[in-house]
Amino acid sequence: MLVGIGYDVHRLGPGRPFILAGVQIPHELGLHGHSDADVVAHALMDALLGAAGLADIGTYFPDTDPAYKDADSMGLLKRVIELLQQEGYRPNNVDLSIICERPKLAPHMPAMKAQLAEALGLPLQRVGLKATTNEAIGFIGRGEGVAALAVVTLKGDA
Ligand code: MG
Repeated sequence: MLVGIGYDVHRLGPGRPFILAGVQIPHELGLHGHSDADVVAHALMDALLGAAGLADIGTYFPDTDPAYKDADSMGLLKRVIELLQQEGYRPNNVDLSIICERPKLAPHMPAMKAQLAEALGLPLQRVGLKATTNEAIGFIGRGEGVAALAVVTLKGDA
């Protein structure tokens, strides 16, 4: 069994969609970044790559590469799963925390969880997904950004 950890943060601001785990969430602000800035997918990809002893997502999908401008991060997640398969690994379970002051994410959690399970090829009960606020403290608490943390375990196919 291999374990990996991932973290990501993106800035919140006007003029962008707010996409978490592939789900577009209605909000007056969105996440800024080179890709679609899906922090959940990004933290998860880094955890998966880390568990397999591979390089970080910036190495595979550089934010200087126009190919990844506004990229669908859930599509990139599926490419990471393929990379792992080539290495002989598959996800065993994942656990994610989203740190977001607003909007309230509770109504969107089932859709996010379903997207993650589908991309990972895991049953819903192997996908942990939680959201918390930052208690109005710091940059997340002021609504300037959203962060995500991921822990994964991988199994070897061999
Ligand atoms: Mg990112």
